[in-house]
Parts: sequence; C-alpha cells; structure tokens
Amino acid sequence: MSKFLDCGKINPTSGCGHILVAENEEELLQLAAGHAKDGHGVDPSPALLLIVKANIEEGEFESSGVVERV
Ligand SMILES: [Zn+2]
Repeated sequence: MSKFLDCGKINPTSGCGHILVAENEEELLQLAAGHAKDGHGVDPSPALLLIVKANIEEGEFESSGVVERV
C-alpha cells in the first residue's frame, strides 16, 4: 500500500491534476515539498504541512512519484 496526496484537494484553486505517490509518509512529505516549490512556486510552510498531512490517503499504485490524475 502506498501513501498518496491529491494535490488538487490540498489547493483546489490551483487546478492541479497531479497525484503524489510515495512508499511512506516521510518520502511523501519530501515529494510534496518539492512539488509545492517546483510546481506551484510555494514555499512549504508549517501551515501547509498540516493541510498536507491531513490529506494523506492510502492506495495501490504501480509506481512512486508525481503522476497525472486519470
Ligand atoms: Zn500540484
């Protein structure tokens, strides 16, 4: 089971169609921090981190990383 974040749920106004997938929470948070900066020009703040943590879900994915929502 992988951990994942639906970026569009964390910031609905972004219209982001990416899902971030990682093996564990620590990797996922690193991935999210990188995506926030590279994908949205947002510096990961403690407040953002709380929202991100509240939105972590579990699911089956074939690979880790940033994938397009289908
Ligand atoms: Zn995004």
